[in-house]
Amino acid sequence: MPQSPAMPLDLRGRPLRDLRLSVIDACNFRCPYCMPADRVPEDHGLDSASRLSFDEMETLVRSFVRLGVRKLRLTGGEPLLRKRLPELIARLVAIPGIEDIALTTNGSLLAAQARALREAGLTRVTVSLDALDPERFRALSGGRGRVDDVLAGIAAAKDAEFGPIKLNCVVQRGANEDDLLPLAAFAREHGHVLRLIEYMDVGTCNGWSARRVVPSREILERLHARWPLRPLQPQYRGEVAARHAYVDGGGEVGFVSSVSAPFCGDCHRARVSADGRLYTCLFAADGHDLRPALQAGEGALAERVAALWTGRGDRYSELRGRAGASKRHVEMYLVGG
Ligand code: SAM
Repeated sequence: MPQSPAMPLDLRGRPLRDLRLSVIDACNFRCPYCMPADRVPEDHGLDSASRLSFDEMETLVRSFVRLGVRKLRLTGGEPLLRKRLPELIARLVAIPGIEDIALTTNGSLLAAQARALREAGLTRVTVSLDALDPERFRALSGGRGRVDDVLAGIAAAKDAEFGPIKLNCVVQRGANEDDLLPLAAFAREHGHVLRLIEYMDVGTCNGWSARRVVPSREILERLHARWPLRPLQPQYRGEVAARHAYVDGGGEVGFVSSVSAPFCGDCHRARVSADGRLYTCLFAADGHDLRPALQAGEGALAERVAALWTGRGDRYSELRGRAGASKRHVEMYLVGG
């Protein structure tokens, strides 16, 4: 077996700490900002032949752990569409070195699966929730989702005793601004952590426009006017969300400001798509096929990833809008956020 490579730093001195692994690229929603129905066919991603198997995913995660990864997030597509997901989680949790394993889901299938996921060892759940208003929710899911199903999923996750549940809301000008205060009130009431995310220019099929971005500063001011907030210190270097606490003790809320306040300098995150391609930036144009190295085993894959990471210089969010910044980006539903 090849020697384990040292923990690599990229060209900007950033270590590799977090891995986002997409377990499937199919989704049962067609959110217009991510996977618009008129651009992505109904049967997209349902061909299982190209997906990494559970054996391959376990080997892959072991390789990344050798390089310094401690936190793992499973995503998609919609990860709860992947069959036997608890079995995969139990295998990944058992890998020495993995300290935290989380899941990002649209929540529509969570009610039936929350307990099994918890029993398998999943530690944290993030549920995407862009609106509480049923009609708006339906529209924002591309006419596919029912907010009641998602709320039932969130309640089941709470019952299953996951830690604080994070709720991801992508704020879009003219689309769900009216839902901000109701969402914050809901999160406060139930002890969830709302994370308000600026609409990002990921992918190429969502017709992104800067006019639809609501800067975090503006969102913060709206919340602060209703429930005064104070900033919290980051819990660790590279924390993506800027956290604020409600002064009245109503919990906390986070702001993810990739557009208005890029955080590339601290990005220590790698993403692997369901077909085994490594993306070293959420906005990368292309991925690197890891499958050949994966076939050669854990050590060979670790060496391949170390070589790729060492050559990484990505800082797209800092370059956005400047001459030379790439306009071609991987689709969000392939790398999972
Ligand atoms: N299906 C799962 C879900 O809905 O959470 C996981 C995959 S989804 C791609 C992961 C996250 O990316 C979601 O919270 C979604 O809202 C977010 N997302 C997708 N497109 C986005 C965009 N253009 N800007 C900001 N966030 C986006």
